Amino acid sequence: MFLLYLDATGSADLRDVNTTHYVLAGVCVAKKGGRAALEAALKAVADRWRLDDPVELHAKDIRLDIREQGKVPDFAGLERRARRDAVWAVMEAKLARLQGLERRQYQVYMRAKRPILHLARRECSQVYEQALDAIGAQDGLTIFFDAVEKRHAVKVHGLGMPTPEVAFRHLVGRFVGFLSRQTHQQEKLVRGRLVMDNDPKDEALFQDLHTTYCRLGHELGQVDGVIKKPTFVDSKKSVSIQAADLVAYAARRYIERWDKRDAQGVCHEEKQFRRILTKLDRHGGHLHGARHLIDSRRCGCLICQERGYADAPA
Ligand SMILES: [Zn+2]
Repeated sequence: MFLLYLDATGSADLRDVNTTHYVLAGVCVAKKGGRAALEAALKAVADRWRLDDPVELHAKDIRLDIREQGKVPDFAGLERRARRDAVWAVMEAKLARLQGLERRQYQVYMRAKRPILHLARRECSQVYEQALDAIGAQDGLTIFFDAVEKRHAVKVHGLGMPTPEVAFRHLVGRFVGFLSRQTHQQEKLVRGRLVMDNDPKDEALFQDLHTTYCRLGHELGQVDGVIKKPTFVDSKKSVSIQAADLVAYAARRYIERWDKRDAQGVCHEEKQFRRILTKLDRHGGHLHGARHLIDSRRCGCLICQERGYADAPA
């Protein structure tokens, strides 16, 4: 039995111009052994940085600045515990001045940031990089993702098929292909199960996936012998879902910024993405596990290149 942990990143809403892409990613591990090894590897990263137990590695929380650190005098010079206490005190002082919805939103933000208050921006980047390395180093782990440029999806599929459904259909199809290869190799029926996040913090994304699954229920029923009904888990308690979140984030950031380079010619998003690149599902020299749905004439990303959709870079 293989488990496919799913998570999505980027708004599927066309009107949201903050993200051009919606990315649905899946991290696939064997139920026996594979999941435990992945979770132990990510927990080791969290322990190294003294993150709270249970482990919470959410890409968005790790990657975005904690503004309140800037209000702590000599933050970098403090011990980790003192850093945490000082930033928390700044947050509590701000909370005391807020009311109503603003107050509730800020409480959610405080809870999300609490595990990493003691880490400076550079240290948070190292947590992110080490977590991606831990995922990339796992034997037997396979990554799937579908990166959909929202505007192109509407051109190809029309408004009748929402973007999450486009991505979900593709990913499930690829997972079924993977399972049938396993069945062939092992000469016995190998099944899989989808595991999804039900974190209320990402309610919109969860609703997208859940609605899509319900829409496709009868179609998935046809492959029910292979894929069992999905389970929904709390990402706070599932380190494997957090792995899918980290992969989805790294893939979206790269896909959206593959052509952006700094003064030294380095694309930082590519450096991060390469940490997991070898784990994409491949067979017989072909890349099956990842797709970038875009007008391919415009794209020279590693995925479009490997799939033969783009001209080789100069
Ligand atoms: Zn591309």
